[in-house]
Amino acid sequence: MNPEKTDATLRITGDVLRFRHNPFERENALELLRDHSLVIGKGRLLAIAPAVEARHRWPDCPEQDYSGHWLLPGLIDAHGHYPQLAITASWGAALLPWLEQYTFPEESRFDQGEYARDMAARYQRLCLQNGITTPVVFCTSHPLSVQAWFEQAEARNMRSIAGQVLMDRNAPDTLLREHETALEEVQAQIQQWHGRGRQQVAITPRFAATSSREQLRDAGWLMAHTDCLMQTHLSENPDEIRWMLSLFPECRDYLEIYESHGLLGPRSLFAHGIHLSDSEVARLRASGAAIAHCPSSNLFLGSGLFAARHMADAGIPLALGADVGAGPSLNLFAVMARAYEVSRLQSAPLNAAQLLWLATEGAAQTLKLEAHIGRLQAGLEADIIALNPQATENLALRYHRAESEEEALFALLCLGDDRMVAATWLAGEQQQSQR
Ligand SMILES: [Zn+2]
Repeated sequence: MNPEKTDATLRITGDVLRFRHNPFERENALELLRDHSLVIGKGRLLAIAPAVEARHRWPDCPEQDYSGHWLLPGLIDAHGHYPQLAITASWGAALLPWLEQYTFPEESRFDQGEYARDMAARYQRLCLQNGITTPVVFCTSHPLSVQAWFEQAEARNMRSIAGQVLMDRNAPDTLLREHETALEEVQAQIQQWHGRGRQQVAITPRFAATSSREQLRDAGWLMAHTDCLMQTHLSENPDEIRWMLSLFPECRDYLEIYESHGLLGPRSLFAHGIHLSDSEVARLRASGAAIAHCPSSNLFLGSGLFAARHMADAGIPLALGADVGAGPSLNLFAVMARAYEVSRLQSAPLNAAQLLWLATEGAAQTLKLEAHIGRLQAGLEADIIALNPQATENLALRYHRAESEEEALFALLCLGDDRMVAATWLAGEQQQSQR
């Protein structure tokens, strides 16, 4: 075989884990290609080939040897709040008191650019340490918090989706902005950041209770006049739902509040969706909207158990969210383990392939980014992680006992944390390494 003259600048060698098909549709969805190389150039995957062949075809291309490691697409965290990083693991509150006691005071600090930049940098570094290459986040209602986020993400060439939180009522004055002002600010952010490099702006009403009807209408207008995603919260907690219906008595259920303001469609991403009626599920399905399932957050705040298998069977696109700060960490493996436990409690357990799907390829689909990220395939962006399945004594013991790839993967998801993430690459550039 003749050497190829290409743009290849890096070969990463290891065991490539990828999906043959959607694990929610058919079994036996995973394949592990042992001793293969990911060939990278200009930030994208150029080829996946057996390592021996790749050495012959691209002899001049530098190689990073991760033999014995699993190579996966970078993980996608479909829901989180970067300004809440410093209040993770705060004790004792359910959703509404949590917002009042912990969230709103902390978010009020983000009118300071330096503080916002520091927190954005910390959050993004923690993402990379945990193998998350695409975070989807809420900022605060301060434009500075958005600027700080996108500047940091662009400097890292990290794909991200973020938005200024829209709030014009029912929160401390320090977090409220007139709806006309907020609309102008978000329009300016879309102009400046949306589609610039790897950055995307999401229209981000916090949830219906903290926006007036006028503001929800503004958000619907933005959704109709741009190609931005819309992210918000839906049906997380019974007290929240009662409050929503008292604020919007003209609506028969929570979803209708968003629906009646033009916020329900295929670019809608709702966090939680735990306590939905059959009618709400049917309307979500018909709209093509997606749900970010945040099991560690739901358990932490005692919000309830999301019916993941039922919703997947109903045809709702799903992704996973660490939901920092109600979710206690950016360890997305722990989020997968909590998703398993929540589904197990409902006698409808998700399997390892399904759990990984929700943090990679499935998540990319919910974000309409499947042409860019979410799987290892020639042409896609080279966001990659290398997992060391023997990173700890416990992992190694369990890994060697596994009789199949799926069994090994399940054990890794249940036992893994940032020590398992040996390296993370963004668009082919190594960001961190534990070696
Ligand atoms: Zn949230």
